[in-house]
Amino acid sequence: MKDIVVIGSSNTDMIVQTPHLPRPGETVLGGSFSTAAGGKGANQAVAAARLGGKVTLIARVGQDALGDQAVQGFTEQGIRVDHIVRDPQAPSGVALITVDRQGENCIAVASGANNRLGVADIESARERIAAADIVLMQLETPLETIEAATRMAHDREIRVILNPAPACPLGDALLRHVSILTPNETEAEFLTGIAVKGEESARAAAEALIGRGVQSVILTLGAAGAYVYTSTFQGRVESFPVASVDTTGAGDTFNGALAVALAEGHPMAQAVTFANAAAALSVTKLGAQPSAPDREGVEKFLQEHGKSV
Ligand code: ADP
Repeated sequence: MKDIVVIGSSNTDMIVQTPHLPRPGETVLGGSFSTAAGGKGANQAVAAARLGGKVTLIARVGQDALGDQAVQGFTEQGIRVDHIVRDPQAPSGVALITVDRQGENCIAVASGANNRLGVADIESARERIAAADIVLMQLETPLETIEAATRMAHDREIRVILNPAPACPLGDALLRHVSILTPNETEAEFLTGIAVKGEESARAAAEALIGRGVQSVILTLGAAGAYVYTSTFQGRVESFPVASVDTTGAGDTFNGALAVALAEGHPMAQAVTFANAAAALSVTKLGAQPSAPDREGVEKFLQEHGKSV
């Protein structure tokens, strides 16, 4: 298998479980507190590595204790860390997360060093990107850096998966170079103005994005799985029924797993089934990175549901 290069954020998540999510001005007395490695880039890199992907993470963390812990964690997961820059001028990113009893969450992020991931960092990783099969990105790092990486990958005919999270306006020049865009329902609505409620509106939103130049769209639909729009396949790929504990990182696990399955050469519908299975397993556990399943777990889960990828 060829390499997966993930370009994106690394944060430390600080999580409090609460009976309900606090409203503005409200203080909610929470339950247990925990910290976990997070950030969409790091989450997706860890998800892919745990599922057997050969992963490089291109990211920035501070020269602080949280940065040390993050890099050590990536190394333990078998992720190549030689393109993680230790920024002398900004602290490591932090996310404050509350999770309610239904598994819904509310998140505030201080980006720190993530905001300083620059075009020069992408240039320095040119050779690694050139050797990759897939480049996987999100939107928690500067857009001009994502645009530069997308151009670089596109020029070398390397597939780009862009998870447009958190949502921000994206130009057609960028979208034209994206192989697979993976918005959730909220992000798809933000990008297209079409409220996604069920399969028909998912298709309409996907078509709107294809119209702007994206090659393929995979619109994640939470417990309903994902709507896939490629040149050869259009339709919903079912998820798997599970008891939801915490949906933090479901999309990240989905994207990491998708990258692994596609890098292994699986066709799109099968790759999405694999990603749905990995993401379903992730919502049964608390946290983002800690909840990402390993390969054996996903294969067993698929087998139990009469599927194989
Ligand atoms: P995000 O986490 O980015 O908001 P979604 O909520 O769409 O994205 O979830 C991403 C993927 O995680 C879904 O496509 C699905 O495969 C899986 N997933 C999310 N919630 C559930 C759930 N309650 N049960 C099973 N799978 C889920």
